Amino acid sequence: MQNTDLQHLQALLGPERVLTGESELLIHARDESHHPEHKPDVVIYPQSAEELSQILRFANERKIPVTAWGAGTSMEANPVPVYGGIVLDLSKMNQILAIYPEDLQAVVQPGVTHVDLNHKLSKYGLFFPPDPGAPATIGGMVANNAAGIQAIKYGATKDYVLALEVVLANGEILRVGNRAMRTSSGYNLVGLFVGSEGTLGIFTEITLRLAGIPKEVSAATAAFPTLEQAAQAVVQIVQSGLDPAALELLDPDCMRAINYLKNLNLAEQPTLFLEFRGHALEVVRDDLRFAQEICEQNGCESFSSALGQEERNKLWEARHHLAYAAAALNPGKRAIVVDVAVPISKFPVMIEFARKKLTEHALNGPVFGHAGDGNFHVGIFYNPDDPDEKSRAHAANDAIVFRAIELGGTATGEHGVGLGKIKFMRAEHGASYELMRQVKKLLDPNGILNPGKIFA
Ligand SMILES: Cc1cc2nc3c(=O)[nH]c(=O)nc-3n(C[C@H](O)[C@H](O)[C@H](O)COP(=O)(O)OP(=O)(O)OC[C@H]3O[C@@H](n4cnc5c(N)ncnc54)[C@H](O)[C@@H]3O)c2cc1C
Repeated sequence: MQNTDLQHLQALLGPERVLTGESELLIHARDESHHPEHKPDVVIYPQSAEELSQILRFANERKIPVTAWGAGTSMEANPVPVYGGIVLDLSKMNQILAIYPEDLQAVVQPGVTHVDLNHKLSKYGLFFPPDPGAPATIGGMVANNAAGIQAIKYGATKDYVLALEVVLANGEILRVGNRAMRTSSGYNLVGLFVGSEGTLGIFTEITLRLAGIPKEVSAATAAFPTLEQAAQAVVQIVQSGLDPAALELLDPDCMRAINYLKNLNLAEQPTLFLEFRGHALEVVRDDLRFAQEICEQNGCESFSSALGQEERNKLWEARHHLAYAAAALNPGKRAIVVDVAVPISKFPVMIEFARKKLTEHALNGPVFGHAGDGNFHVGIFYNPDDPDEKSRAHAANDAIVFRAIELGGTATGEHGVGLGKIKFMRAEHGASYELMRQVKKLLDPNGILNPGKIFA
């Protein structure tokens, strides 16, 4: 970018929202992933679709890269401006524009966080179910199609987006979708933008579907002698027709990290966290009893369902912060985070394969995940100053992801492609990857929107 470009942008929005200070650039140079930092040339805080339209029209003419930024909690460098240019930080567009309790819908600006939205919705007995654990913005969640712990029952962000206002690369402001709960009218353009990681347009208004908050909850932890037995129990719980609101698998490393983080005294064994939600206590308790039977048939050594509210909250809080706890137990290291998802029947095979690859490459790292969806993570820790360990970490990651794809799965169940999953795209999508590239060219012919992501 040239000085004249900066001057033009400052004249457009005023100097207080067009920032080039070193700390501002550094804050927007890294997300939560292991990928290296890249500073933008300038960080802009827009406040309306009209402002965004002017910025994008100018950037498109000058062919300046533009990368949207929500809260920067991504796991694959999704919002990192690898070619510099403009970062659009949308955190100041954080208004809840409307709540329609009678329709179970809300309209929000992209910078609203799911935490703030759910806080506001609770008085209506409603909530927005996708929950990545991190304090993400709705814009970032829509762009990454975030999912999280409750996706097994409630689905991912894509299942909650009804309509979008999007500013395209050429500055055009487009509306896609409507407020009807179902439609079969034409191509699904809402679906095209969801999961596009800021590469096709910038969302400025998002219309969401909501869900009612169920009254009753039952929860338990189940500890197993081996990870494979725990994984087998997951498959049977899902196949039994039970409808858990969460079914998480954590290996002994994770349990160690959770004990360390929350000062708990849980067995450091492969463990399932289970939760059922519903409107009658007998029903959610019955569900838990049935799940317990399945766990015991698969060798579960202790099933603890007498969790008090406080302990349950502590457990879920610890689960949400597991990534930070694991990092604290591996000081000075970085982690490649595997995010594969496979058909549920292949889940135990995949878990075993992942463990084997870690051992083969003399690495360690926690294995955990949203098991009920066949989605799991491996935090493969490596020392960034040790090229040999780094290359072993990449080799293990590649082997796990390619195996998941061979088994009919995906390289990324919820974190998105960003930088780290580009190398798997052709293997996963074949010829349709080329079609995606053509869609990108059609909507962003100059390639200014988040360049270097999804496509190399
Ligand atoms: C501890 C931890 C746990 C996590 N657990 C989960 C989990 O369980 N499930 C899960 O799905 N994710 C998880 N994540 C990942 C992360 O929270 C999600 O990917 C989240 O959606 C990122 O939102 P954000 O607001 O931080 O967006 P950012 O990281 O800032 O941006 C994400 C992407 O969205 C684009 N973008 C942002 N705003 C807009 C907009 N308005 N219009 C267009 N594009 C936009 C950016 O360019 C980027 O490509 C976790 C992260 C952490 C740190």
